[in-house]
Amino acid sequence: MIVMKFGGTSVGSVDAINNVARIVKSRHDLQPIVVVSAMSRMTDVLGQMARESCQGALPKSLIEEVKARHIDTAETLLDPTKSGEIVTMFVAMFEELENIFRGIAQLQELTPRTRDLISSFGERLSAPLVAATLRHHGVTAETYDARQYIKTNQRYTEAEVELNETNRLISDALIPVAETGTVPVITGFIGSTPKGVTTTLGRGASDYTASIVASAVHAAEIWIWTDVDGAMSADPRIVAEARVIEKITYHEAAEMSYFGAKVLHPKTMLPAVRDRIPIRIKNTFNPTNPGTLISDKTVYSATGVKTITSIDRLCLATIEGSGLIGLPDTPARVFQTTAAHRVNIIMITQASSEHDICILIDEEDRETVVSSLQEEFQHELERGVIDGVTAQPNVAVVAVVGEGMKGTPGIAARTFGILGDHHVNIIAIAQGSSELNISFVVDHDDLEKTVRLVHNAFDLDTE
Ligand code: ASP
Ligand code: MG
Repeated sequence: MIVMKFGGTSVGSVDAINNVARIVKSRHDLQPIVVVSAMSRMTDVLGQMARESCQGALPKSLIEEVKARHIDTAETLLDPTKSGEIVTMFVAMFEELENIFRGIAQLQELTPRTRDLISSFGERLSAPLVAATLRHHGVTAETYDARQYIKTNQRYTEAEVELNETNRLISDALIPVAETGTVPVITGFIGSTPKGVTTTLGRGASDYTASIVASAVHAAEIWIWTDVDGAMSADPRIVAEARVIEKITYHEAAEMSYFGAKVLHPKTMLPAVRDRIPIRIKNTFNPTNPGTLISDKTVYSATGVKTITSIDRLCLATIEGSGLIGLPDTPARVFQTTAAHRVNIIMITQASSEHDICILIDEEDRETVVSSLQEEFQHELERGVIDGVTAQPNVAVVAVVGEGMKGTPGIAARTFGILGDHHVNIIAIAQGSSELNISFVVDHDDLEKTVRLVHNAFDLDTE
């Protein structure tokens, strides 16, 4: 048994859904269970319609647009004799959706619970479409609404899954079906509370659903079908010679994702990692490409480095002053302050002189961080114990990632050597003790040059 998850672009058009059907049909022997996202952009549009309703106006034209998109897709994909049933169902679902928007518009109030109900329509519409298309291609398939199987708490929009109950419900329902050759098509992203109230597992969580289902049915592999060939050795928009990496470990995939390469959210992989289920990333629009295999098996590259990832549009906030030296509570106060403002910290450095603490944050959080730290340390600033809180905008972080880096001397030297030779200034550096990742901050204007130089220095353009 394998789990195949198809993302938004993979179910985003008639051609794409026909591709999905061909792919599933060609691997029918592997007893696939299919997990689907909503059609591309659908979740965003549902959110937008909910916000508009909350302003008091019914988003009539948007509703008509997405309704037409789904009905047209169904009518183009299926025989007229078969599309009638699904179109009737879609019409009823859009009526229900419109009624919900009408209620929100009247109350001008939108709770997280209602937002989840609205978001759930995307996957509840795409799953029957994919199942019907599979049947049209001669594959027996059945739609499954994940709300009956994925049980969560009430943390709407980011609900936490009750794994024991969920595993039991999924394995009881899906294993016997898949074993007899019917392909279950289950909605990604959504679940429900013990009382049956609709919840969602967080943006992009269809991958997470796939991993949960795979773990519950003890799948041999998870195939994540998307619109790129796999994890890349660098951002192909920056490095023309960037390659698809054949094999990476769960750890490497997690490091890459943290650093902006949209591989898989680390949380997504948890159930798969625990059960050591390999995850394959594959391109729906280029299915013969082998893609990337993520597993617990380490394959070292010649240099130890597998990929160069980067995040742009960041800001480096620094708090400095000789008064910080030997003050045990300063770091705690810095992080309590950022946490209180829900600011995500991308990288932290403190040199052993303890003279300053630097935190790397999103450019958007700059004002919040500087003003809240100034407020927190007002007393120390007035007494001159702390010189100031400053922010350096327009910076980017670059991470050199690879499991083989651990214990391999010379990687930092090679990285910084080549950058020194080309006059790239390094603003801050961090390496965790896992040694999987050396991260450093450069000026935004040096970002592309840096990624190209380091990619080239580690021969990542060749096997
Ligand atoms: N449709 C959901 C989203 O866009 C879940 C997913 O696609 O993974 O966030
Ligand atoms: Mg996605």
